Amino acid sequence: MRFNSSIGLFGKARRLLPGGVSSPVRAISPCPFYTARAKGPYLWDADGNRFIDHCLAYGPMILGHRHPAVEAAVEKQLEKGWLYGTPSEIEIQMAERIAGHYPSMQMMRFVSTGAEATMAALRVARGATGRNKIIKIEGGFHGAHDSVLVKAGSGATTLGIPDSRGVPVDTAKNTLQVPFNDPEALEKTLSSFPEEIACLIIEPVLGNIGPVLPQEGYLKSVRDLTKENDVLLIFDEVITGFRLGLGGAQELYGVTPDLTTLGKIIGGGFPIGVFGGRRDLMEQVAPSGGIYQAGTFNGSPVSLAAGMATLDILEGDSTLEKLNRASDEMRESLKEMVEDLDLGYSVVGIASLFKVFFGPEPHNYSEALKCDKAGYLEFFHRMLRKGVFITPSQFETDFISTAHSREVLEATLEAFRSCLKS
Ligand SMILES: *Cc1c(COP(=O)(O)O)cnc(C)c1O
Repeated sequence: MRFNSSIGLFGKARRLLPGGVSSPVRAISPCPFYTARAKGPYLWDADGNRFIDHCLAYGPMILGHRHPAVEAAVEKQLEKGWLYGTPSEIEIQMAERIAGHYPSMQMMRFVSTGAEATMAALRVARGATGRNKIIKIEGGFHGAHDSVLVKAGSGATTLGIPDSRGVPVDTAKNTLQVPFNDPEALEKTLSSFPEEIACLIIEPVLGNIGPVLPQEGYLKSVRDLTKENDVLLIFDEVITGFRLGLGGAQELYGVTPDLTTLGKIIGGGFPIGVFGGRRDLMEQVAPSGGIYQAGTFNGSPVSLAAGMATLDILEGDSTLEKLNRASDEMRESLKEMVEDLDLGYSVVGIASLFKVFFGPEPHNYSEALKCDKAGYLEFFHRMLRKGVFITPSQFETDFISTAHSREVLEATLEAFRSCLKS
């Protein structure tokens, strides 16, 4: 496998783009491959190499690349124009659909990214309660903005930067941290700052330090404790929404948050985010209330058209059930493989999320950090040379799409088998 074109492009990029990339996790050491095109479960790079894609743009591409129905919906929208600066009916259609699957989202606002959605949801929580402090989970990732860029998982963890320079101390001090799967720690933090905490923001399944699953009853205790302490609960379902099931983690685990953020899948691969929740909270968002949020690209018709077409497919013909079943089988095969090797590795996941951890199954951030990060990177490169693109970090989740047929998943498993052995 040759990477000459990618090496040349990366050389040029490094003079123009910090680290040669537009987002840190893409800076695969020593050189990322440059994607030239994508279709179904595959990416082709600038040198003509083909990879089975299990990164899937870190979550949005649940139908694989260039799904014909999504492509057709986007083309149809383009014929009608792609940005208006006025309301358009598709916003109402999408809001009705989302509210149908997420009854907790009685009202919502469309924005352009997941990061904007969490930023605005936190503002709503602070604005509605009149309190400054928030709690987040160690290793929880909610986008790269000031309030949540503390022990944030994703690229920051991969690069070993726990906090970012440039985040004001006065902001970071309002962000309290608790470990995942630890109701006692949450209870202690809640009682240490009575009437100072606006909300807890949590990924119901951590997705940005690899998948880390909530233990039995954990999310219910999170709901009970926040309610008892009069603190709002925000579920960040940017990854889990429309993936764990149509109703996301809140439906699967039967826990109702006050506010929810969605993104990724609901834009069908185009930029999007949405935040929403209890009517009494969302009515405080401008222009109906005094909590400000605005954006040129809010409710982009193209993103919504791609998202609607994606939801059509996910809702029809038990698509998600089939995808989840295929993913369960794949994780089972991986588990057997890993157990046979007896290296102390683990296979973790749910629905169409999976990860091979180079260590025992983690239940929180500090346990995830104990995995063999360097060993994983070496393994990543071996997989790439076998034609399989898994995420380039121990701390990013791998994904499966509906375009990954049985044969494709078999090829992935074969690559795992041969790379894990060596
Ligand atoms: C990706 C992600 C975000 C940020 O979404 P962007 O669209 O990248 O801004 C927020 N929260 C979670 C859980 C995510 O996985």
